[in-house]
Amino acid sequence: MWQALDCSNISFLLKLINRIRLQRKMNPVFVVFQSLIGVELMRVDTELISKANQIRQANVDDEVHLRGLIEISNYCRCNCLYCGLRKDNQRIRRYRMAPTEILSAARLAAEFGYGTVVLQAGEDPNFEPEVIAGLIEQIKKLGLAVTLSLGEWERQTYLLWKKAGADRYLMRHETANPELYSILKPGKRLSNRIKNLEILRKLDYQIGAGFMIGLPGGLDVEHKADLALLTHLQPDMAGVGPFIPNPDTPLGHFKAPSLENTLSILAQVRLALPSAHLPATTALESLYPQGYEWGLMAGANVIMPNLTPLHYQHQYQLYPGKAQTRNAAAYHQRIMELLNKLGRPVGKGPGHSILWERRQKDEKSK
Ligand code: SAM
Ligand code: SF4
Repeated sequence: MWQALDCSNISFLLKLINRIRLQRKMNPVFVVFQSLIGVELMRVDTELISKANQIRQANVDDEVHLRGLIEISNYCRCNCLYCGLRKDNQRIRRYRMAPTEILSAARLAAEFGYGTVVLQAGEDPNFEPEVIAGLIEQIKKLGLAVTLSLGEWERQTYLLWKKAGADRYLMRHETANPELYSILKPGKRLSNRIKNLEILRKLDYQIGAGFMIGLPGGLDVEHKADLALLTHLQPDMAGVGPFIPNPDTPLGHFKAPSLENTLSILAQVRLALPSAHLPATTALESLYPQGYEWGLMAGANVIMPNLTPLHYQHQYQLYPGKAQTRNAAAYHQRIMELLNKLGRPVGKGPGHSILWERRQKDEKSK
């Protein structure tokens, strides 16, 4: 079993890679070289980045939408090999925010002028769906849009949250390689993830797919499959950021992708999805200085400032070195200065996806 392997040595890595190679019939030397050395197949392609920037401007304008992120629980029933919230990780202290704490953070979002709050968590079976529905109702009363990023649940639960007023659901597909997906997310299947996204779309959520760049066992060329899947899904938003190794997980010994590689893929996502919302991710900012700035120049048009109280943020350790360790007001100020420097205005209102708005219009005209 994968979980039972000793991951602190090279044999774990080689077994993992070998298994993927056998499944995918890949050249072993190529795979090992890529995964161990973090080979950079691409140098930063200024032409590509500038093209992505132009496409972004032509399709979603210069506005940057700020979505206030609230990390409402770090309990998780899943065991994803890359994530610090995985249930087998004993090194973090688990928390579940109280509804009053979540509403205070949401009020802060409204004060800062953000149009959306993102409620994110591990798959926490003890966070009652009805309590979350009540929170959604309260947050909507503040005049904010609500995005959920709470993992995989039954259709009934998605429906309950939709009826309570939720607008969007983020559920990255993580990798378009089905074998790699099931290795990295034990007990889970890519086909089921995609099915969940389809259910969410049918329930009229604005959906967000996306993937991690440079996952161990993946190949740069396989990001072509990620791009193809995104093109097929046509999500309203795409969360695409670098994999960051977390020493408290079985993948702690792998390498993160280079900045050049990360930006190149991000730019290609913008070319594939001209009108979607594309965040400059926290992972990008955590991994590289000025990551937000680079991301915004390579096609991104969203930032998700973290509004989780600091003492919880420290426990929401997907990976080490998470960008924000300052209070929300200082961080907000920093982002405003960055946008000012780049001449990018803050998006007004809820910042709904224009793809979704088009779908609404089409529905009405039928
Ligand atoms: N539990 C929900 C889920 O998995 O969809 C939502 C929360 S989960 C923490 C949000 C995202 O964090 C995942 O979709 C994954 O892409 C990202 N993530 C987790 N571990 C990461 C790592 N080590 N490096 C970069 N991103 C990571
Ligand atoms: Fe849980 Fe999401 Fe982390 Fe997987 S990525 S362990 S589902 S929080």
